[in-house]
Amino acid sequence: MTARKNSLISLADVTIGARFLWRLPAFLRHRISPEQARAILRRRFEQREADFLAIAKSGIYQQAHSPYLSLLRLAGCEYGDLERLVRQDGVEGALLTLFRHGVYLTVDEFKGRRPIVRGNVTITVDPDRFRNPNSRFHLVARSSGSRSRGTPVMFDLAFVRDCAVDTSLFFEGRTGTRWPKAIWGVPGSWAIARVLELSTFCAPPVRWFSQVDAAAPGLHPRYRWSIRALRWGGFLAGVPMPRPQYVPPDDPLPIAYWMAEVIRKGGNPHLSTFVSSAVRICRAALDAGIDLHGAHFTIVGEPITGARLAVIRQTGATALPHYAIIECGAISLGCLAPETPDETHLLHDLHAMIQAGPDGATRGLSPLALLISSLRSTAPFILLNVSMGDQAEMTRRACGCPLEGLGWATHLHTIRSYEKLTSGGMTFLDADVIGVLEEVLPARFGGAPTDYQLVEDETDDGSPRLRLLVHPAVGPLDTEAVSEAFLRAIGAGAGVERVMSLLWRDAGLLRVERLAPRTTASGKVLHLHLDRTLPARSASHPKA
Ligand SMILES: [Zn+2]
Repeated sequence: MTARKNSLISLADVTIGARFLWRLPAFLRHRISPEQARAILRRRFEQREADFLAIAKSGIYQQAHSPYLSLLRLAGCEYGDLERLVRQDGVEGALLTLFRHGVYLTVDEFKGRRPIVRGNVTITVDPDRFRNPNSRFHLVARSSGSRSRGTPVMFDLAFVRDCAVDTSLFFEGRTGTRWPKAIWGVPGSWAIARVLELSTFCAPPVRWFSQVDAAAPGLHPRYRWSIRALRWGGFLAGVPMPRPQYVPPDDPLPIAYWMAEVIRKGGNPHLSTFVSSAVRICRAALDAGIDLHGAHFTIVGEPITGARLAVIRQTGATALPHYAIIECGAISLGCLAPETPDETHLLHDLHAMIQAGPDGATRGLSPLALLISSLRSTAPFILLNVSMGDQAEMTRRACGCPLEGLGWATHLHTIRSYEKLTSGGMTFLDADVIGVLEEVLPARFGGAPTDYQLVEDETDDGSPRLRLLVHPAVGPLDTEAVSEAFLRAIGAGAGVERVMSLLWRDAGLLRVERLAPRTTASGKVLHLHLDRTLPARSASHPKA
């Protein structure tokens, strides 16, 4: 986006902003009590099938231009058939049958990057057609697909409240409803939605740390306006809102000091932030000798690995994941008795979820690909068996934690993107790269999990180039040996990758550089950073 465009605020922004400010005071005045949250959840479980059918009716069958309607008609499934399927096999059973009959979307189809092709029928899609016609829009977010310009995602405040019901029960399970809370993110609706969500069941966060200076020139005026609208709405509702305080990603010590101060006074500080941001704070705390026993994190937006979690736990702090995707909100919340670093409970009151299974291969989906369907009438998009590019292990086990007691019995873990990066003929799977960058290289050359990053960019003549960034703090090392170790680890296993890694080695397409890993515009340190100069390419993770 150009600087000139950045300075403009559109009519749509003004309209949405005005609606936001109008609705905000009433939103803030009505708190959800734990009893209410439990009652709402019970009701959602009881009415789950009816809710699913109601969304299908009003959001798809009554919308002549819905792309899902075309898919359902191709599959020969009229509304009455869907009703029968749900009655017979339940929501997930019906979704599996639909999937086998071609009713699903890949992430590329959902985002309009590719037409939908089923048999000899091709459907060209405008991603706007997936918006929920029953949802009002009060907040705008921009998702950030790694391969294309993000689609604006617009939220209804009622949807923030719908998600907050589950989040409130998550905090209750952690006995953390009254913990003094803070967030550390980048300006935008993720931060605002977190502030609002906390305000609906406990209190607004006591501190709001921002990784970008809100006064920085070039920042879209929408961000400043949304912060102002939030503070005004809080003032009108008698619920004072915090002011964002700038804490840059490379100097997170002020947050560690805030946490230590809360602990010293006998409290338990809680911070919501990105996974790599929590790791940064904890590394800074360890270096400065700050003890964080009693501190808690909720970590979002990036894969959670054992290596990253170990750095956090070394400080004495605890961390639980909150898996969310900007297009559909919260998906699962951290198990309180986890067996794997990112074990979570699927919020099946908000979404229905199935996996592609063996049928996925012929449809361009990993067998573990998650296919999501909306259940809440306030959701920003209507999703019907949509893959957002993530896969996970989906299991049922008796963990005995309070979230299971609430009825969330399905677990998701090892949540990863299955989107592949193909560069110079070599294909990397995000999930494989993570293991090499977080475990293999730090084990051999030292440093922490966020010290290594793969950056794909292009040379002046447009040839692809891969750079492996190694943080200078790791100390002196033989870059040739790092390159060798990386290629060998990536090439371990399948024969094809082995051949490709040899090709890459011979062509010298991988270069090791001593630079700090890049942070994306959305504040995350990705394992695989796409560094493109083309304006249409953004470089961040598809998750919220
Ligand atoms: Zn659990």
